[in-house]
Amino acid sequence: MEETRQVQGTWDLSTFKFRIEGEGIKNMLKEMKEAKLLGNRCHKCGTVYLPANFYCRKCHIAIHEPAEISDHGEVMSYTIGYADVRGNPLDEPRVSLMVKLDGSDTWIMGAGEDMKPEDVHIGMRVKIKWADQRVGNLQDMESFIPE
Ligand SMILES: [Zn+2]
Repeated sequence: MEETRQVQGTWDLSTFKFRIEGEGIKNMLKEMKEAKLLGNRCHKCGTVYLPANFYCRKCHIAIHEPAEISDHGEVMSYTIGYADVRGNPLDEPRVSLMVKLDGSDTWIMGAGEDMKPEDVHIGMRVKIKWADQRVGNLQDMESFIPE
């Protein structure tokens, strides 16, 4: 019989870091240095993933075919934040977007910039604002700005 234990406490998500592995992700980060997006496509069903995935979530098979993806896309969902992770009010509301980039079947999340919270809507066209000095990591995508 398995034992279930509980640990009381809080997690500070502001310092959480992701570990990224895999050939597809490494290729994606390399291309981001050139302000290009590279995902991958399932050779069986055609689903395009960004970030690149090890396997197709529909077909459950390994996938390796690269797929170029636009840095323009459409807002699929969004959140307007008025407080930080600790509940402290923000000076300015923070826009967080879920965006489906043209050529991809998946959504990525990012901050919205140069947009008023009241103007944000589902279906809004946006594009990636790339960092001036790109190094090949996820911070190369600074934010989404209106198209
Ligand atoms: Zn598939």
